[in-house]
Amino acid sequence: MRRKIVCTAGSIVLAIVNGAAVAEEHFTSGASRDTSELVASEAMGEVETILFDGVRIHLLIEDQPFDLSRAEIRDWVRQCARVVAHYYGRFPVDDAWVAIRARRGARVFSGRAFGTAGSAVVNVDIGLRVSRDTLDADWVLIHEMIHFAFPGVARRHHWIEEGLSVYVEAIARANTGALSAESVWRGFLAGMPRGLPQPDDRGLDYTPTWGRTYWGGALFCLLADIRIREQTDGRRTLRDALRGIVDAGYDITQRGDLREVLTIADRATGVSVLIGLYDEMRDQPGIDDLDSLWRSLGVSEQGQSVVFDEQAPLSEIRHALTMRDL
Ligand SMILES: [Zn+2]
Repeated sequence: MRRKIVCTAGSIVLAIVNGAAVAEEHFTSGASRDTSELVASEAMGEVETILFDGVRIHLLIEDQPFDLSRAEIRDWVRQCARVVAHYYGRFPVDDAWVAIRARRGARVFSGRAFGTAGSAVVNVDIGLRVSRDTLDADWVLIHEMIHFAFPGVARRHHWIEEGLSVYVEAIARANTGALSAESVWRGFLAGMPRGLPQPDDRGLDYTPTWGRTYWGGALFCLLADIRIREQTDGRRTLRDALRGIVDAGYDITQRGDLREVLTIADRATGVSVLIGLYDEMRDQPGIDDLDSLWRSLGVSEQGQSVVFDEQAPLSEIRHALTMRDL
């Protein structure tokens, strides 16, 4: 069956089947959608359905001369889905669309996830010359699929959506052995400082800068994961909290009230870490220095190397965070 990818300026809307849109862009940015954009560019491709563990992923690959075969691209999509499924205990939605658009080049470009009534959709742009090694080392599709596991929330809470994707992507890849502990911490040491509050900060809900949205959100997740582990003697983790959200029936195709969602997540761990941390960081700067956090975890960078201190008070938690369990 041939289906058509319909693109807006910058993002795919997706899959027109027999003239009816099965999924369309649904971004709650407040801007009204200009439907005249819908046919800005078009591409045709074959759709196939990947099946695993009761999940259906409809994969649409733009009909362009990729160096990789369709089978290799399909394997990569399946592999990304498995990383996400491993973290959450199951893939967060039963039915999803992944639309791959071709671009010139040899890397993975941007991705975007969105939910409509009944459909979870990822668009990802990849280079025609991309290699399998480049795909396997890339984070974009995993980041986008992690978005499937959280409901749409009010615009001011966008940091939790992006923060979860940034943080969980690294941890989930480490848990499956796809990323080393050194790589996770190198990424966090470089990225987390970008999430720290600047002098005019008004808290995560009221400071919608790139740094606070992506890395401020990721810092929230790291702090939450550590606190949950501390308060439960390592018996519960952020992963349990996030599984609680999915188990309650939330995913990207729905809307959620953040406080309600965090309360459900806290219930899954038995400690009120997420709500507590949210109240600390939502309308005030919160943590403004990472030195003592890195010292407690026993992680530092010396030259090109990441160095671990096994005597550090939180070194056990540091190990547990990136432990391979697949
Ligand atoms: Zn994202």
